[in-house]
Amino acid sequence: MTKMNIMKNLIVQKYGGSSVADPDRIKNVAKRVIRYKQEGHSLVIVVSALGDTTDELLDLVGQITENPQDRELDMLLATGEQISVALLAMAIHSLGHEAISFTGAQVGIVTDASHTKARILDINSKRIEKELAKNKIVIVAGFQGVNLNQDITTLGRGGSDLTAVALAKALRAPICEIYTDVDGVYTADPRIVPNARKLERISYEEMLEMASLGSQVMQARSIEVAKKFNVTIHVRSSFHNQEGTLISEEVSSMEEVLVSGVSLNKKEAKVTVCDVPDKPGVAAKIFGDIANADVNVDMIVQNVSRTGQTDISFTVDSTELKKAIKAVEKVARGVKAGQVVSDEDIAKVSIVGVGMRSHTGVAAKMFEVLASKKINIEMISTSEIKISILIRKAHAEEAVRALHDAFELGKNKK
Ligand code: ADP
Ligand code: ASP
Ligand code: MG
Repeated sequence: MTKMNIMKNLIVQKYGGSSVADPDRIKNVAKRVIRYKQEGHSLVIVVSALGDTTDELLDLVGQITENPQDRELDMLLATGEQISVALLAMAIHSLGHEAISFTGAQVGIVTDASHTKARILDINSKRIEKELAKNKIVIVAGFQGVNLNQDITTLGRGGSDLTAVALAKALRAPICEIYTDVDGVYTADPRIVPNARKLERISYEEMLEMASLGSQVMQARSIEVAKKFNVTIHVRSSFHNQEGTLISEEVSSMEEVLVSGVSLNKKEAKVTVCDVPDKPGVAAKIFGDIANADVNVDMIVQNVSRTGQTDISFTVDSTELKKAIKAVEKVARGVKAGQVVSDEDIAKVSIVGVGMRSHTGVAAKMFEVLASKKINIEMISTSEIKISILIRKAHAEEAVRALHDAFELGKNKK
């Protein structure tokens, strides 16, 4: 095949952990992949670690130490995907077809040095192109790369999505298919909202918000890259052949819908710095030091001060709570603030929709719905196309279902 034909017929497919959870499912993926090959496609397959392997590896770490070095974490976590690629290659071979497996480093996925959440700098796709030209199915380990020091890095949880999108971009594949254990992107997590509706299409922008706000069906950074380079994504089930959800540029009909989805994130924690001196430069110092500790801050609230002192609360990813507290306690002493307290019993619920840009009253309606359920709102943050609120964790699912109903997102509505 000529290079142009290979690229025109190329599909990048990514199979998530649940799709390769056991030998039968791996064999099922092998059969699917071969079917596409027989239809005349060139295939680059990205796979995640088997089932819950990554969580199990993290659990093992927890039994050894509370403070692992990030470099060693990456060394360990990358092994999960290495198992999957080899097993899938063997499954394809045993069905009489040609395939070859690679680690991220082997196919030149070069990242920065930010271990556990590395960014892809470059992909040298020569090796992949060479194997595709030999008519082989190329299988690449998701979630991993290598930095300029030749150390193995990982791309953040859910990072196999990013591997797939970045490869689709580098190889100029017309489509990137994400195979998972749901039929597509829904108006809310179907495990929480039984009448959630599958969306036929969703814009990059809305998907990016939903993913960033906790809808783990796609990794947020993978959508950022897809949006930047206009990679069309098709999210679909690995268990049957029905169409899933297309993620693409916004089309005008999307604006007619006020709210497209409800997202939930239960993996954040709230940190409060009490009695902070209320004068210019203090917040800059506190958040500057947190950023220097490489911790991302999400929502921030500063209470009104009448006494010259104020409380500042903010949220961080639960996995970064320890790191955040360490940095904040130090800076709190430095700026002569009081106690630092943390609270993991919180959840963030958000509504997302490009239609919000041109409609008013959405926030008011959201707050009314929560008030009617007697759910107290502790923090609020908004952007053009989303509204997020922080509430007690115990009310999380109830709030998601109530909002999903109130904005008429369910199957039986509309
Ligand atoms: P994979 O292992 O294939 O990467 P993930 O577990 O990362 O799969 O993502 C799929 C899961 O995302 C689904 O099982 C579902 O519970 C959850 N999810 C959360 N929000 C949504 C949503 N809006 N639409 C679809 N699935 C969602
Ligand atoms: N195995 C990694 C994780 O569990 C990457 C992925 O599944 O996309 O986060
Ligand atoms: Mg995933």
